[in-house]
Amino acid sequence: MIVKTEVKTYLNYVNGSWIPASTNQVDPSMNPANKREIVGYVQKSGRDDLDQAVAAAKQAQQTWRKLSAPARGEYLYKVANALEKRLDEIAETMTREMGKTYPEAKGETARGIAILRYYAGEGMRKVGDVIPSTDSEAFMFTTRVPLGVVGVITPWNFPVAIPIWKIAPALVYGNTVVFKPAQETAVTAAKVIECFAEAGLPSGVVNLVTGPGSVIGQGIIDHPGINGITFTGSDEVGKRVGLGALARGAKYQLEMGGKNPVIVAADADLDLAVEATVSGGLRSTGQKCTATSRVIVQSEVYDAFKEKLLAKVQQLQIGDGLHDTTWMGPCASESQLTTVLSYIEKGIAEGATLVYGGRRLTENGLEQGFYVEPTVFENVTSDMTIAQEEIFGPVLALIKVDTLEQAFDIANDVKFGLSASIFTKNIGSMLSFINEIEAGLVRINAESAGVELQAPFGGMKQSSSHSREQGQAAIEFYTSIKTVFVKP
Ligand code: NAP
Ligand code: MG
Repeated sequence: MIVKTEVKTYLNYVNGSWIPASTNQVDPSMNPANKREIVGYVQKSGRDDLDQAVAAAKQAQQTWRKLSAPARGEYLYKVANALEKRLDEIAETMTREMGKTYPEAKGETARGIAILRYYAGEGMRKVGDVIPSTDSEAFMFTTRVPLGVVGVITPWNFPVAIPIWKIAPALVYGNTVVFKPAQETAVTAAKVIECFAEAGLPSGVVNLVTGPGSVIGQGIIDHPGINGITFTGSDEVGKRVGLGALARGAKYQLEMGGKNPVIVAADADLDLAVEATVSGGLRSTGQKCTATSRVIVQSEVYDAFKEKLLAKVQQLQIGDGLHDTTWMGPCASESQLTTVLSYIEKGIAEGATLVYGGRRLTENGLEQGFYVEPTVFENVTSDMTIAQEEIFGPVLALIKVDTLEQAFDIANDVKFGLSASIFTKNIGSMLSFINEIEAGLVRINAESAGVELQAPFGGMKQSSSHSREQGQAAIEFYTSIKTVFVKP
């Protein structure tokens, strides 16, 4: 079912009310498949609006933290139900607002619902341990307490799932939230927060303030009333968050970029490897932090793999993500398109061979959108920009190697370490890969972009602040441990 989105202005949600920003300014949120379509208007809030939200969150936390964790979990079940009722509509808004295909948007929204239910259940789990004291009369144990007010800063590429995988654990562990979504997908974010509002959470427990990263995002970094900041986005902004939080003693968690490799060993199932490379590299127009971007192939199977890959890539249907036949939608914004095209130019200039794609698509009704062809380079070497920097677009770099040792060296020769895959049938190669690869997500005979909500998620090196999100790992960020020694 497709519900037409009305063009309205989405307000901030502060202290349980939808309120206009003090600035009276809005940004249009555009459809990247058709830049003439405005999905909604979102407010360009200012620091005063943020102050108000932080004050509300701080006040609300005093009561929220005293509820039992199972009682907080009950609210998350209600949010899940509210979101489930609006799944199709919110997914459709997501497709309009950032371009991923409707089935992908529905999958992401369903994921958000599942995450809410998962953390609702986490409210029932143990949070501490009993530790034997050296004093035989004493009782020693750990318990966990919330941080207080958590600032949530999110990117545009998963506008439902990422906010939920931060907000849900923040709440169940007793924190209150000030949420600043990426301005580019703030309509989708506002609809998610409508579901929190509908669930009847006490006023001030969740607050939404939209606006530019330089104002509201930076405001969250600097605000003395915010005790923890969870951030997903680029490594440039992530470093600002980390440094700013450290400077004022706030806790922080950063999930940033990737430059994820897939290794295709000489004994790989090539059809499976091609399938996973196309899915991992090109779905969501390559705009996943876990997207495959480097394809490192052993020379024995290089030609056969390349042939199968190109045959598959040529068949992909590119268009508006709301059309049934579309496999790949547009880049999420004009600036994203420009970035992708400039990386493609750089690849050519630095001597890589363009074997497929590389152009902006403007034919057959695509002229109003930010479309780029799926693109494949070969003769890519590790020193090239397209082998080092995150492109965040549908661009694959093929790298030919003789041995698996070379493949591992190249795979690790980047500043990032988020996700990595290998395709092989050999148990020894699998184990070497698990041992050698510098990545937080290690995937064997599976695409680099798969994530399960009940398992820890995060990267090594400059992909994260070495913390993990999702699953039970989330408790580590959203709580502090109290070690308690009781002597009667
Ligand atoms: P971005 O530019 O870093 O933006 C992320 C968020 O930070 C947005 O809400 C943005 O606000 C805000 N922001 C911008 N400047 C800020 C500042 N000075 N202080 C505080 N906040 C600020 O990233 P993006 O372009 O939206 O997203 C793409 C990036 O996210 C990629 O690098 C991708 O790898 C990464 N990503 C990582 C993961 C992961 O889990 N590892 C998942 C998804 C995406 P505005 O945009 O509204 O200005
Ligand atoms: Mg941005």
